[in-house]
Amino acid sequence: MPYESGGVYETAQRLGHVPIIENKSVQEELDGFSTKEVDPDEAPIEDNSYALEDLPNEGVELNYFLSIDGSLQEVPTNDDYPSNRIGFVQIAAVLTKLDLLDEQQSERFVDPARVEELDRSQLQDIVLPSSNYIRDDAETTVESWRKHIYHTFKTRKIEGRSLLEIYLDVIQADPRLIDENTVDVYRCPNPECPTDRNKVHIHTSVDAFGNCPQCDTEVYPTDALRTHERVSESQSNQTAISDIMQVIEHLTMCAYLLYLSEESPERLSRVGFIIDGPLAVYGTGSFLHKPILQTITRVSNKQKKLGYTPPIIVGIEKTGQFKDHATQIKDRMEPGSLLKMDNDYIYEYVKTGTTDNEYGTREHYGWPFICRTKSGRVFIIKIPSLPEGPDKYDPMNYPLMRNTLESISKVETALYDDATIPVTLAHQRASIPLKTGSKVLELFSKGALKNESS
Ligand SMILES: [Zn+2]
Repeated sequence: MPYESGGVYETAQRLGHVPIIENKSVQEELDGFSTKEVDPDEAPIEDNSYALEDLPNEGVELNYFLSIDGSLQEVPTNDDYPSNRIGFVQIAAVLTKLDLLDEQQSERFVDPARVEELDRSQLQDIVLPSSNYIRDDAETTVESWRKHIYHTFKTRKIEGRSLLEIYLDVIQADPRLIDENTVDVYRCPNPECPTDRNKVHIHTSVDAFGNCPQCDTEVYPTDALRTHERVSESQSNQTAISDIMQVIEHLTMCAYLLYLSEESPERLSRVGFIIDGPLAVYGTGSFLHKPILQTITRVSNKQKKLGYTPPIIVGIEKTGQFKDHATQIKDRMEPGSLLKMDNDYIYEYVKTGTTDNEYGTREHYGWPFICRTKSGRVFIIKIPSLPEGPDKYDPMNYPLMRNTLESISKVETALYDDATIPVTLAHQRASIPLKTGSKVLELFSKGALKNESS
């Protein structure tokens, strides 16, 4: 540090980050804040490190990576009325053939036309009514949003199944699913309803919907995701758009898991799933994190029963406190090693908060590890977690751990880039493109499954 450390006010002021505050008591108030700055040298890296070679090594060699990432935009549609906004969500899913990647990495020239084509074609577009937009069949933006989300779930398809069908399949073990066509919505979606957000039980069927017993509002099965609760009639709806994007992103992963589990379990054991970001659903739809983990477990158990390896699933986190920590301790980790972090470690060295709460229980279906590859890069990875309890901290309890890390190192240059994972993988020219801005995502059409040698 080039400066003597002073109070919070003095330091921030010297760096030009806060205005000059004459009032002494305000300065003191600022000095009452403190930040958590842990000395990374204190972190017990060696005690928690595992050599790659010592980790459990089950599974077969991967042939494919399927990477999924969502992006969003909210744009004003009229300069004279800046509060007229429309939301766009794009889901990119790219299938990368690892053997082709090996082969093509040795090629010297990349064909720019081909790269552009891949860029455009790997997306599923979803348009959402944001502030000041009202559908013909609705009276408010919130109502338009709800109707439109239902419509989107009904019409967007992945490998032949609608998002709605996939959603119902994923929540099959959740108490919200009453029967295969009925979802229990716990809160009336009408902001004016006299139930006043108290817990109600509105049974909504897939095609006939349901009605609130108090205010008679028509309620849709997708209202259980509650993304409409953050929709504003006049302000930016970035948060609501982000919430629904995450939901669709993770449902997309589940869609491919379920599809391959049904159609080609042998191939499923050779597909690795990469999510760009944590294995978590934040915001109003966060209840989904549990059904997603249940879906992964269900698919994995079925694989084992059939004699196949469960799929490798990994979230790669590129920003945030874990990433900051990893950067700090990087040089203390051996190349080709994995760092275990239990709850105490996380709250001692990585995150603010107390250890009373288990990290991630409300939103995450993955547990974090830090890995340093043989080439020296560090990654924050999240692996679908084991049930609650200390077992889930220990990498030795994850049979696919070594296979996961070795698979990651095959594509690590693409993963390390700042761009999104599907796009960078697509740029490596070994990916199968999707249809342009389609309502349908199909990576493994039945024909392709038959024609390709497996
Ligand atoms: Zn109501």
